[in-house]
Amino acid sequence: GLQLVWFRTDLRVHDNTALAAAAAQGPVVAVFLRSVEQWQRHGHGANKIDFWHRNVRALKESLNALNIPLLFRDIGTYDGATKAITEIVAEHDIERVHFNHQYPLNERRRDLAVLEALKAKGVSAHGHHDAIAFAPGTLSTGKGEYYSVFTPFAKAWHKNVTEAQLSLRDTPAKQKPLSIGNNAIAALPDLGGTPVDKNAWPAGEEAAADRLERFLQQRAQRYGEQRDFPAVAGTSELSAYLALGIISYRQCLQAVMSRNGGHLADGAKGLTTWVNELVWREFYQHVAFGFPRVVRHEPFQEHTRALKWRDDDEGFKAWCEGRTGYPLVDAAMRQLVDTGWMHNRLRMVTAMFLSKHLLIDWRRGERFFLEHLIDGDFCSNNGGWQWAASTGTDAAPYFRIFNPTTQSTRFDPDGEFIAHWLPELEELPTKARHAPPRDMLTKLDYPEPIVDHKAARARALEAFKAL
Ligand code: FAD
Repeated sequence: GLQLVWFRTDLRVHDNTALAAAAAQGPVVAVFLRSVEQWQRHGHGANKIDFWHRNVRALKESLNALNIPLLFRDIGTYDGATKAITEIVAEHDIERVHFNHQYPLNERRRDLAVLEALKAKGVSAHGHHDAIAFAPGTLSTGKGEYYSVFTPFAKAWHKNVTEAQLSLRDTPAKQKPLSIGNNAIAALPDLGGTPVDKNAWPAGEEAAADRLERFLQQRAQRYGEQRDFPAVAGTSELSAYLALGIISYRQCLQAVMSRNGGHLADGAKGLTTWVNELVWREFYQHVAFGFPRVVRHEPFQEHTRALKWRDDDEGFKAWCEGRTGYPLVDAAMRQLVDTGWMHNRLRMVTAMFLSKHLLIDWRRGERFFLEHLIDGDFCSNNGGWQWAASTGTDAAPYFRIFNPTTQSTRFDPDGEFIAHWLPELEELPTKARHAPPRDMLTKLDYPEPIVDHKAARARALEAFKAL
């Protein structure tokens, strides 16, 4: 019988668990339900939604090359999913529905509703674990609880991961043409913003595979030393592709192993560090599943709920617009708004600056990031923000507050990144770019620091001590 594969954040034909399972059982039809209104409610902006759209188009090409038609529906919000899937199932006399799990709460609720409706109609359905190695709940502490600290999670992950969790799923063979045609993929509605340069983020599995290859050939060996320097293109820039499943963690890890004597860790140092970042990605998905309060926008550390965040619209605006007077922070914020991506070191620096120096509720920053990030992912973004704000798992102890100027001299020693994003500071000698001399600010047309580091630090410590 006919198998329906419902694609969501797994937009690839290679190494796709649900697709491989479906193709082993019968001819396949694919469907994508576009829910722009829901994505916007979740805080995603034009960059991510446009990337999503372009990748659905690319997926359609790859599916069609295998004679798999792609059905397409605009459903607005997840509320429309049940109706769309049950209609398609009836119309095409589908035997079984396959999908890969998404772990955040709203997606799970949507899937449960669909599963119930299918069950009522006697149609079988199968949810597959695909996006991460361990289904949430299958990796737990000695007490049988979800891990709330990364290091023991990573240890357990490495200790327990099996070959089956790492091996690539079969790519379906080209099937006999069906009498079902594609649906046209409608143009996107107005997203209230202009998406970033499409050429910087090409769509499709091939583009993702090229990035992985480039990373392994040119960057991976020195990843350990270079990953913290934003002026160096030292990381994979695969996050947007991983977030939408245009490439899988298995494809990444297999590529690592093939260059590391078959090992994930304990070989080339750069590769080992990189593998750990992929484990961080998985960790935050487990956290979002195991501690649903974080999905409800609550702090992971419950005692920090009472923290008195400052109401400071002006400070928030200055942060968003890259006008804090701290060059590294400002350069980073301009990178985010201009490119839809920000270097990891700078995500930490800017998030800490907002939540500690300005003592502004981290949730405002979390939202601003999601709105701009092309790799916006609820779990990683929430995890990163709560880490920086000292409200999360592995929380940075609240008294360890990055000095943004010291971060600047350490990680952008020649002020190269600063000069790229703040051309007004380019003329300064490199050492002066970290903290432009006060008497030159007017001439440079650059703002004074909006807070004094020491005073701001003391204010944040007070607020945390009061808890
Ligand atoms: P690489 O260094 O090449 O790492 C490889 C992959 O590992 C990444 O593509 C990503 O999938 C994963 N990864 C790396 N670092 C982390 C991390 N700290 N946590 C979870 N996964 C990680 N990542 C997102 O994918 N989406 C987000 O919305 C997001 N928001 C963040 C917000 C804050 C405040 C912070 C501190 C971090 C955030 N990150 C987020 C994590 C990290 O900054 C990005 O994944 C990374 O910068 C992407 O660049 P890359 O692909 O070159 O990473």
